[in-house]
Amino acid sequence: MAKVLDSVPEKAKAFLSGPKKMLIDGEWVEGASGKTFETINPANGEVITTIYEAGEEDVDKAVRAARKAFKGPWSKFSPAERARALHKLADLMEEHQDELTYLETIDFGSVESLSRHAWVLGAAEHIRYYAGWATKLNGETMSLTSGGNKHAYTVVEPVGVCGQITSWNFPLLGVAWKLAPALAAGNTTVLKPSQNTSLSTLYLATLIEKAGIPEGVVNIVTGGGSTTGEYITSHKDIDKVAFTGSTSVGKHILRKSADTLKKVTLELGGKSPHIIFADANLEKAVQHAFFGFTMNQGEVCAAGTRVYVERSVYQEVTDQLVELAKNMKVGDPFDPAAEMGPLVSKEQFDRVSGYVKLAEEEGGRILVGGKAPEDENLKGGYYFEPTIIADVDEHCRVVTEEIFGPVLCIMPFDDVDEVIERGNLTEYGLSSGVHTRDINKAHKVISALDAGTVWVNGYMNSNSHVPLGGFKQSGVGAEMGYPGIEIYTKSKSVVIDLDDE
Ligand code: NAD
Repeated sequence: MAKVLDSVPEKAKAFLSGPKKMLIDGEWVEGASGKTFETINPANGEVITTIYEAGEEDVDKAVRAARKAFKGPWSKFSPAERARALHKLADLMEEHQDELTYLETIDFGSVESLSRHAWVLGAAEHIRYYAGWATKLNGETMSLTSGGNKHAYTVVEPVGVCGQITSWNFPLLGVAWKLAPALAAGNTTVLKPSQNTSLSTLYLATLIEKAGIPEGVVNIVTGGGSTTGEYITSHKDIDKVAFTGSTSVGKHILRKSADTLKKVTLELGGKSPHIIFADANLEKAVQHAFFGFTMNQGEVCAAGTRVYVERSVYQEVTDQLVELAKNMKVGDPFDPAAEMGPLVSKEQFDRVSGYVKLAEEEGGRILVGGKAPEDENLKGGYYFEPTIIADVDEHCRVVTEEIFGPVLCIMPFDDVDEVIERGNLTEYGLSSGVHTRDINKAHKVISALDAGTVWVNGYMNSNSHVPLGGFKQSGVGAEMGYPGIEIYTKSKSVVIDLDDE
């Protein structure tokens, strides 16, 4: 039986007394301005605690610390020592999984079992995966085409000081996606978690200290995007920016970084097509389609929010999805029976509600959901029912724009070429899914979909080994797998002219 919290872990309770400080150069500091912001429990709208906001002076101090650590103690760590420190960090995360699970659940709102297994233990596992890469980053030896006694090879070096900015959905795993490869490759970092969900990252910082990672290697600065985030992206002494968030902010960051020509990688939004052919294992396809838009309240970049169903089975699949939605238990994320928790914030609740209203204006039919649950116990929280919308197509904004909530548009199609064309009718290109027993059809769809990932007969079965990157306006570069660490390295070419005698 899965472990369940029966009370607030004492260490997490103590940790929550605010205002929370940030970690700069190995010290827990208040922001220079003394300004704070509130972090809210999405399950009841109440303030959990307050957090100091980092201003320009604080970011500058963090960058200086990161540079000093990059040139100093961290550069003395051998790859094996970096790997060991990352494994130690993962051990500590497992040891402190109750505290991290509690903080992730109260601050973000994902149900406790998901917080624990996918976000906390998943983050620890991800750190172990990249610990393994630390000792395997090797250059190449080249044979030169022109004559002479020459020796040529490449050396893999860390990029330097990285600015890392993350989104609020699955905060701890999102941080691990960035932190683990950066550290494994020998970089130092100034990391800003989302202002909506900073708590688990701040707790992680206490473990980073205990893992024996030298001071200044990881600096955590907290605050908003237009303030703290901007200072990071425009800072002259940051070599690389890695960002996860919305496509609009991603474009802004790319422009901002141009002045200093930072290396930039972007993990952005999506509106992923999920295609079900009539010859698929329909029972399995329906389960995956449901999971694909409700997991984590639909607050997942790769969520399959456009389900296309071959017309002959459209009604059957739709009815089954509606039934699953009606029976899903939306509830307090600490309730072991709850399958879906609240949306992260009032702002996100209003955004999702707004899109449902828009769908109706665009001629859509709400088959199920579309509103907050009636349950009196959930009042005050930002809960939203799983929602399925029919009678819409790619002319509707609700079909082409990312909503980032548990909202699915379901549409019939008649043939393979049509569904491929419609699947690609979006500016995004993050993920996609296809269900069929016909291997030829599956391959045709795989090669024709313009998306960074195609899941076949499954959905969102991600893994640290498999890269996740966006095509089109869903991103630049990829995280996870080897590409996820390659983006934290640079390759130096060396050509040596050897004496002939
Ligand atoms: P967001 O773009 O509003 O914010 C993301 C982060 O950027 C936050 O830390 C925020 O404070 C910061 N930020 C905002 N404005 C900034 C600015 N001007 N300069 C620097 N930093 C700034 O996104 P969000 O609402 O936190 O997250 C949801 C989005 O993230 C969705 O679009 C989702 O698809 C995307 N996402 C993508 C992936 C992926 O791997 N592709 C993973 C998770 C989330």
